[in-house]
Formats: sequence, C-alpha cells, structure tokens
Amino acid sequence: MSQLPQTILVVEDEVSIAETIVYALRTEGYEPLWKTNGRDALAALAAQPIALVILDVGLPDMSGFDVCREMQRRGATPVIFLTARSGEVDRIVGLELGADDYVPKPFSPRELTARVRAVLRRSNGNSHEVSSGTTAWEHDAARCRISFRGSALELTRNEYRLLGALLASPGRVFSRDQLMTAAWDDPGAALDRTVDAHIKSLRAKLRIVAPEVDPIETHRGFGYSLREA
Ligand code: CA
Repeated sequence: MSQLPQTILVVEDEVSIAETIVYALRTEGYEPLWKTNGRDALAALAAQPIALVILDVGLPDMSGFDVCREMQRRGATPVIFLTARSGEVDRIVGLELGADDYVPKPFSPRELTARVRAVLRRSNGNSHEVSSGTTAWEHDAARCRISFRGSALELTRNEYRLLGALLASPGRVFSRDQLMTAAWDDPGAALDRTVDAHIKSLRAKLRIVAPEVDPIETHRGFGYSLREA
C-alpha cells in the first residue's frame, strides 16, 4: 500500500540545524517543509495539512511557545519542541503547552526522527477527529467543535479551549493556572474564579445533553479533570 508522504513543518531559524533536520526527515520518507519564523509557520499551517511540527523555541519574530499556543487555538497538530536551554524545558513542562515531546540541542538527527515516528504513531492511533479515552466525546479541532454524546456543544472560545485542554488528557488533574494558560490569551488577567465560572457554564451545557452525568470532576484544592470513560 503506498501512502502520500506526511508533511512535517520544521520551524527553525538556524540554517545548518534546519538543513540537517530536513535531510534526515527526507531520508526517512517524510515531506519536510521549512520555515524560519513563527509568522511563516502559522501561515503554512493554515494553508495545508501538516502531520507534525518541529518547533524551535527561540525564533526571530516570536517565541516557539507563542507559535504553539496559536497553533492549539486552531487545531491539534502534534508538536516537538527544540530547546537550547534547560530553562526552556521547565517552561514546556510547567506551562502545559500540550507539546508532545521536546528534544534538547544539540541532538542527533537519528534521535529526532525516532521521536517524530513515535509521536506520529501515537497521534495516528488516535485520529485527530476523536479524542482519546472515550467515545462520548468527539473533538473536531479543524472546526473548533466538540460534541458530547453526539450533540455538538455551543461553546464560547474560552469554554472550547478549556474543555479541549481537559479532553486532551482524560483523568489528569489540571490546576486552575494550567487551565488559564491553556484557555486564555492573557492568563495573567484571568482570576481563579474566572476558571470556576467557565467550568460552571460548561457543566450547565453538558447537563442539557446528559443530565444524569457530570463528566467534569472537581478536585478540591487542586483543580479539575475530565472523568475517564
Ligand atoms: Ca533559534
């Protein structure tokens, strides 16, 4: 069975590193697409299907974190971060950006393509249309639409992003800070009770679909999680 090669977007401003990555990907049968800054990367993502993004944290026009946040608002393309400093790793882990993996520089091309394969295997096993864990939910990231038990939910942007974050990791407890970072453009401006208020309105909308269940679980003193199926 022959398949079209999957397009991997490489966002890296250092030419020598980018060339190494592009060569390694092509050798592995992928179709690399190279962009040197965040703005061009986002334009490429909007223009064509991308299977995975390899994203440098330090870009000339915006940080890789900002690119990732903007990407997640639009859809759920897997991301592997390239990091130059250990402090960046802390941020990737701490900010819950939803990165699928990260590779510290310097790295071997072989190591990177192995990570690419692993992430693609994970994300292909769980098609981008349906979130993992449960069939009660359907997340159509391309249309920014989430359905619960077959009913499309009418969500505000922040509700959509909040629920999207919970859906991405069923069972995982998110702190209010983590949910704010996932769902608000300016998390510093939001308050803990803003998250609580949005969770409340989300629950009300879910109750209309299925009054007998409460799929969002409150963890007192910690935050919220989505109940695993
Ligand atoms: Ca760089």
